[in-house]
Amino acid sequence: MSITNDLVRRYEAVCHYARRSAVLSSANEVLGWDERTQLPAGASEHRAEQSTLLAGLLHQRWADPTFAEHLDVLSEALKPNGHDSLTASKPVISEQRLEAAPKSGTTDSLDGAAAIVVRRLKRERDKKAKLPQTLVEELARTAALGEHAWQEAREKDDFPAFRPLLERMIGLKRQQAECLGYAECPYDALLDDFEPGELTRNVAAVLDTLREELVPLVARIRQSGRRADTSLLARPFPIETQDRFVREAAAAIGFDFNRGRLDETVHPFCTTLGPHDCRITTHYNEQHFSAAFFGVLHEAGHGLYEQGLPVRYYGLPLGEAVSLGIHESQSRLWENLVGRSRAFWNHFFPIAQKHFPAALGGVPLDEFYMAVNDVRPSLVRIEADEVTYNLHILIRFELERALLDDQLQVADLPAAWNEKYQRYLGVTPPDNRSGVLQDVHWSAGLIGYFPTYSLGNLYAAQFFAQAESDLGNLALSFGRGDFHPLLDWLRERIYRHGQRFTAAELVQEVTSRKLSARPLVEHLRAKMGSLYDL
Ligand code: ZN
Repeated sequence: MSITNDLVRRYEAVCHYARRSAVLSSANEVLGWDERTQLPAGASEHRAEQSTLLAGLLHQRWADPTFAEHLDVLSEALKPNGHDSLTASKPVISEQRLEAAPKSGTTDSLDGAAAIVVRRLKRERDKKAKLPQTLVEELARTAALGEHAWQEAREKDDFPAFRPLLERMIGLKRQQAECLGYAECPYDALLDDFEPGELTRNVAAVLDTLREELVPLVARIRQSGRRADTSLLARPFPIETQDRFVREAAAAIGFDFNRGRLDETVHPFCTTLGPHDCRITTHYNEQHFSAAFFGVLHEAGHGLYEQGLPVRYYGLPLGEAVSLGIHESQSRLWENLVGRSRAFWNHFFPIAQKHFPAALGGVPLDEFYMAVNDVRPSLVRIEADEVTYNLHILIRFELERALLDDQLQVADLPAAWNEKYQRYLGVTPPDNRSGVLQDVHWSAGLIGYFPTYSLGNLYAAQFFAQAESDLGNLALSFGRGDFHPLLDWLRERIYRHGQRFTAAELVQEVTSRKLSARPLVEHLRAKMGSLYDL
């Protein structure tokens, strides 16, 4: 057997193994979806046992010595110029299409796609191998205890009760960063779990610009004296009709209900159970229109990305989303840039009025449009609008970096939180429940996660500006209820690539420039300028 035939055999084995892991993982996702949408309360203990067992099996698969050996041999052979990195993508072995993994003996080559698959899998495996089993277990245990402690502390508005758990978690996350290693600062190592290959320095630079622009914009909106009448969204909206209307809207933007479902849950999410099975969820509130409607557009945006990933690469990095930030860019793009646009409502408002004649029959479109774009500084992130949301994220990003760098002690966190809320948003939480204790993330060890929400907004605005530049004025097609030009563009430019590019490379590839705060700032300035007469 020639050397290259040996490589092909190893590559086939790696692909087969990774796909089997993906199938096992998808079985765990089914359990997770069921847990959050259907499971009777009494069954939760057995479900936890099932999920923990599957998660353990999945974790073990990464440590398999044969899989590791194949990856080591392949990555050595595929190394361009003796240099390995996440971003290098030049194939060293001649090109060959990889519609499916090649059969042994039928070829003596691997192509650029194979190089990417191997590089991504090896990177992930090497990361996992760097974490000692004791640290992984301690992190999981502290996260479980932490979530419980956080829930209780939030209910009782008792930050001191949560403090020891958070201190322990920060200490463990520092250890994790040291084990993994990092380019410039410990936060880089944690950010990498959510935004692979991205550096804290780059994220901080673009978010700093965003803060400098948004803090004065929010102040000008407050001073404008213009206020939306949001009470028109808080009338009775029968749940059955909401359900019909949101399904109509999700289908109109392209969500494929033959390969997906919409169900109810408490905290909405999107999950993928297989290459043709994407589940989105929502929570209906009879007394409020926005939560379910924009929530479904958001989750359907995640779903469009999942449904647009190449099925032939299912279970391999080329069939998976780039990063959390890029995923969030798709939900935000459909929720905000499309769903809160004037053109979208030119088409959908008359339909909404037919569905909800009592609530919306006499409401002028201008007032409705203003109400769904209401901007007002608030205390709670998940209720925040398109503009102020980013300031909520900035506060968390700055604080978690300071905690990790030992610039801020956990004991001083509530005061630091309140000070930043006053400075950036002009509001001060009356208690920790509506302040520092509002999010689950830190208790669960999710440090480095928050910035991906704002990265999503930034990527979304930059992609959308490029789509408009390529396709012309999208408002015309939105006004006709036609969203296919945009969806086709996103499928072609973003979805079909899977993880071919890192997030930074994808932004460069699609928009011919680096990530910048400018497209988002320009979008918000223009839109809010006309709504608030600025
Ligand atoms: Zn999302």
